[in-house]
Amino acid sequence: MCVCGTSRARPGGVRQTLPIASLVLLLGLPVLACGGADSAPGGEPDGTEQGWDSQKGNPTHATHSYLTEEAIARVRDAHPEVEAYRADLVKGANEEIHDLVLSDALLESLRLEFGGTNGSCQHPERVWAHAQERFAAGDRHSAYWYLGILLHYVEDLGVPAHALGVYHQSSVTNWDTFELLAFSNWKPSYAEIDRSDPHLDDPSGYAQVSSDWTASNFGEAWPSTTYKRTFFSKTWTFASHKERAFLSNRQGRSAIVTSWALESAARHWNP
Ligand SMILES: [Zn+2]
Repeated sequence: MCVCGTSRARPGGVRQTLPIASLVLLLGLPVLACGGADSAPGGEPDGTEQGWDSQKGNPTHATHSYLTEEAIARVRDAHPEVEAYRADLVKGANEEIHDLVLSDALLESLRLEFGGTNGSCQHPERVWAHAQERFAAGDRHSAYWYLGILLHYVEDLGVPAHALGVYHQSSVTNWDTFELLAFSNWKPSYAEIDRSDPHLDDPSGYAQVSSDWTASNFGEAWPSTTYKRTFFSKTWTFASHKERAFLSNRQGRSAIVTSWALESAARHWNP
């Protein structure tokens, strides 16, 4: 999610702002000077897609950055090139290409092509196809940027609302409290990795792996419970031990599944 309304709306589009004032109040964050928070006539009243928080306008180190950096750290010994293109991977992993119209022409065209949804996208294989095409053309910076976009979707599907298809955005009226709880709380646990890498040849297949893993974890932790976007506590202070453990495990497991997707791509490019 973007924590600062820096994106201007375009006619007929939607405003992409985050209720920074609300987050500031809730989490005690420093206030940034934000521009571009004016709404579009006829547009949606608020919101940008969430998931784990991303870097744009974010005063904290974004969760998408942490997840991608952890994946790089786990893959770089076998495939050093992922370290060389770290900046491109992290930049791609912080792009929010979902259901909302984007003002950037390239990102909007990609959003339409990928079939961006509230939870992820309909066609992760098209993201990988772009990465492959750029790599074959010798444009490795772009190839790794596209791979980063794919990793973003894999990462987002580690969030219950994304895996379980519960619609949410980023304002007080429609936010997901698990995402609020995770914001500025990077506390991953790698002690309970309860799955192993299926070693998929196609990196885009890890979007489904991530989604299935998250849905299973929620069902195991809270059986016969229908997930709602207000299910979790909003803050670490008021979260139960069970909620804290679930979040830490989801952060760790999301980093792990991201590393599997990255390694799958690296096997194609640096065998
Ligand atoms: Zn996202």
